[in-house]
Amino acid sequence: MTVAIDRADRAAWAALAEELTLPTAAWIGGPVASRAGVTRTTVDPATGLALAEVAECAAEDVDAAVALARAAYESGSWSRTHPRERAGVLNRLAELITEHCHELALLDSLDGGKRIADTVGIDVPGSAAILHWYAEGLDKVYGEVAPTGPADLATVTREPLGVVAAVVPWNYPLEMAIWKVAPALAAGNSVVLKPAEETPLSALLLGRLAAEAGLPDGVLTVVPGAGPVVGQALGRHPDVDAVTFTGSTPVGRLFQTYAGESNGKQVWLECGGKSAVVVLDDVADLDAVAAGVCAGILTNSGQVCSATSRLVVQAGVAEELTARVVDRASRIVVGDPLDPVTEMGPVVSSRQAARVRAYMELGADQATAAYGGGLVEGARTDCFLRPQVLTGVDPAAAIATEEVFGPVLTVHTVDSVEDAIAVANATPFALAAGLWTDGLRRAHTVAARLRAGTVSVNCVDALDVATPFGGFGHSGYGRDLSLHALDKFTGLKTTWIHHG
Ligand code: NAP
Ligand code: MG
Repeated sequence: MTVAIDRADRAAWAALAEELTLPTAAWIGGPVASRAGVTRTTVDPATGLALAEVAECAAEDVDAAVALARAAYESGSWSRTHPRERAGVLNRLAELITEHCHELALLDSLDGGKRIADTVGIDVPGSAAILHWYAEGLDKVYGEVAPTGPADLATVTREPLGVVAAVVPWNYPLEMAIWKVAPALAAGNSVVLKPAEETPLSALLLGRLAAEAGLPDGVLTVVPGAGPVVGQALGRHPDVDAVTFTGSTPVGRLFQTYAGESNGKQVWLECGGKSAVVVLDDVADLDAVAAGVCAGILTNSGQVCSATSRLVVQAGVAEELTARVVDRASRIVVGDPLDPVTEMGPVVSSRQAARVRAYMELGADQATAAYGGGLVEGARTDCFLRPQVLTGVDPAAAIATEEVFGPVLTVHTVDSVEDAIAVANATPFALAAGLWTDGLRRAHTVAARLRAGTVSVNCVDALDVATPFGGFGHSGYGRDLSLHALDKFTGLKTTWIHHG
């Protein structure tokens, strides 16, 4: 049952955190230590304190997980069940996630420094909703009958692929896992999940909850460990049929190499971004736009792949909008992620904080003016950063072209709508874009020309399980969410029966 607490009370969250038993075992047919008995300390970036010693898997553990996943797949205990049976299990898993909402929210907040308001309000309910959606959708996807002649019947059906490896990042630990696991399981595959080493806890609990929901042994295994070890072992495994990856562009490329050098498995990539938010000079409500621009870069401390990290603004409103954005960003409450009044928590780790701070220093050099940035004075750890807004930045400068993955916004003032489109598109990434305009015609014509997997017009980072999510160019290919995600986890099969 959900533990009843006052969600607005920091002390209540802290007390619940004290009571929690943190999951530490890998999940390979049940809770297991790594074969070598090695563990890794997972740390709370908000306190710098060790949270738990988590099983640190290696190639031999991956072999065991893949073997179990394959055996489960071949047994048909999941892959050949009635769709409504699979729907029942996925719905039960969604219900268990809802029942464990507070626990799961805390795990991601403690492990990754994410605001409790976000994990309890967005990540966990979003994960449950996605599972319900695929559960409800999986028995409404039909096959085809091909237009053969009268002497033949050819059916085209979607077949599961077999064993799917899901390798996910730390910014939305539970939700990124669910984006992969839900459609892959719905399609009848077995899944081996590798969480990020920074944030393994919610994935470990997910393994247990899936078993409680009735998922047969081996259909979902969870192998925490280092990317170059566990991630690589999955990427190179001869018995893995597909990898679905979310993470950085360079690591995404590695998975293509691993596949090419092993069994040519399918690789689906959701990689980084350097998304623009374009603001045209016809907007009337600059306060609303400033709030949207800030949310676009400061949500989750800027650790969002689709964060709009470049503001491309027409000269007529540039000065006024920039002033409002700087004002808002400078007033944001950075602090304890367990405190519901906190507006921005820490970044995920000291290592990530150092990387972002190096970009902040570079940005200050490459801008005509820099507002904010650097460490929050007096904070408990070095993971708490102040948002930074940089103006007068050359769109070709490193700070405006490389993904920072932190609360850093560059501002680019342009004269014409054509210039705005050109600057927005002047990056090899193409994951998301924002557009603010009060003109209906401009909304359509400019949105059509922004190169991005999702364009959010007069809203921030629009996203729903019903719409596909993913990018073009260096942001990867293949789509998460929506029924289109099933394309990645199924292959088309033709069965041709000659009866003439
Ligand atoms: P990352 O370093 O690329 O890691 C992603 C996953 O790959 C982690 O599980 C990681 O394991 C693993 N990995 C790292 N090195 C590996 C290697 N040599 N071989 C195999 N696997 C390896 O990314 P991150 O820093 O966790 O996350 C931030 C990135 O994710 C950003 O670039 C962001 O844009 C991107 N992202 C994209 C989306 C999207 O949908 N497009 C969504 C969210 C995030 P360990 O962490 O355990 O080492
Ligand atoms: Mg951690």
